[in-house]
Amino acid sequence: MEENCIFCKIVNKEIPSNIVYEDSEVLAFNDINPQAPIHIIVIPKKHISSVIESDGVTIR
Ligand SMILES: [Zn+2]
Repeated sequence: MEENCIFCKIVNKEIPSNIVYEDSEVLAFNDINPQAPIHIIVIPKKHISSVIESDGVTIR
């Protein structure tokens, strides 16, 4: 885990987030300040320096 990485903190539940999906590899949460009605950010649990964003996608 990287120091001061917001995504690692979200994965570790140090920062509360509206989690919509979680498995052993990824975590998806609703954007805190969405630009679209449904704006979900998907991040791998392993630290990365960028995120994959998807607009209007429902993850089942
Ligand atoms: Zn990180």
